[in-house]
Amino acid sequence: MGFVSVLGFAHQLISQRVQAGETVVDATLGNGVDALFLAKLVGSRGSVYGFDIQQQALDQTKMRLEKELPDDVSSCVSMSLCSHALMETVVPQDRHGKVAAVTFNLGYLPGADPSTITKQESTIPALEAALRLLRKGGIVTIVLYSGHDGGSEEAAAVESWAQQLSLAAFQVLSYQFKNTSTHAPYLLALEKR
Ligand code: SAM
Repeated sequence: MGFVSVLGFAHQLISQRVQAGETVVDATLGNGVDALFLAKLVGSRGSVYGFDIQQQALDQTKMRLEKELPDDVSSCVSMSLCSHALMETVVPQDRHGKVAAVTFNLGYLPGADPSTITKQESTIPALEAALRLLRKGGIVTIVLYSGHDGGSEEAAAVESWAQQLSLAAFQVLSYQFKNTSTHAPYLLALEKR
């Protein structure tokens, strides 16, 4: 049977915690796989706030959502062409402290310029913002890659940031295949207590 993939496990953890009608964030839209998953989960009464610094990612995501979802559900996704470090300025004030999930899928957009990557200088402030937005019992998932230039430095910075979080406030989980390539993606998941 085999263990569920890293992305599949992230989605499993999110779907166990998020209800239809809730507010969620996709911090790295990319090709829109996570945004589609989140939109299906929260449905037409919910809201998905998505971020990416590349117009190509917003275009790809829009195309995917329009193809896969009825109009009333795809319209629950609002996309911003800006860094995820600014998420608190985009998510409405009345949703602060009520966000059920924030997904990060770090690295670069497959098929696009591989030098446009997530970087710890904005990833860490974005993670801090995500924790402030989260409701009790909400979850942040982070898929980390170390195979590209700058990837292992970013992964190390995210790991040490996550390890210093207070256990009274957050639980931190790691999901990683140990006997595959050392550069295989892996997951950190944070639940707010
Ligand atoms: N979640 C995506 C999916 O479902 O297809 C995959 C994301 S891809 C691995 C990483 C994305 O992060 C790229 O599209 C890249 O442009 C974006 N990115 C890089 N720096 C960013 C930043 N500061 N804020 C938001 N997105 C960023």
